[in-house]
Amino acid sequence: MEFNNSVLTNRLENLVISRVDMELMTLHCQQCHVVLADSFGACGEVQALDCIVCVTVTNKVKVSESLERGTRGQMAHCLYNGLRCGGCSCVVGMVIQCAPAHLDTFRSMFLLCKANIDCYVLNSSSMVKASTLCFEQKSLKQSLKKIKHQCEGQLERISHLEKRLTYNNEASFYYC
Ligand SMILES: [Zn+2]
Repeated sequence: MEFNNSVLTNRLENLVISRVDMELMTLHCQQCHVVLADSFGACGEVQALDCIVCVTVTNKVKVSESLERGTRGQMAHCLYNGLRCGGCSCVVGMVIQCAPAHLDTFRSMFLLCKANIDCYVLNSSSMVKASTLCFEQKSLKQSLKKIKHQCEGQLERISHLEKRLTYNNEASFYYC
């Protein structure tokens, strides 16, 4: 079976969801500045390949129809489609279709090469090289732990307010 439980669990552990911690930004081709993706579609990075992992990209990203074979380094024994910029046709990344275990998690995702990408960070209104940023995200488990911690904090505050309201109601009843 292609997707057994261990593979799915592995994907969930390695992937992430959290857009909360990531700065809002758009990802641009470094050559022609066409928008290729944004932080809502980015869900991590593959450090071994120096790539940003995206689940969605804009229609300016063109997926090559031909399947290429990786021959060296981390890409050895991988089959992938190249990604090109729709504006200037330069290579901007790849979609891995078939890979050894160490890259299996990233199959069928858009991998944008950090070296070819600039990022426009909305908060600071600045354009920076993707290579200067870290797109690594917390695991789903870590994100859930953080959300649980925030919920517990909110619950504690509500409980405290509830006690104060009860106390104030009792006090006003006493003085009437
Ligand atoms: Zn371009």
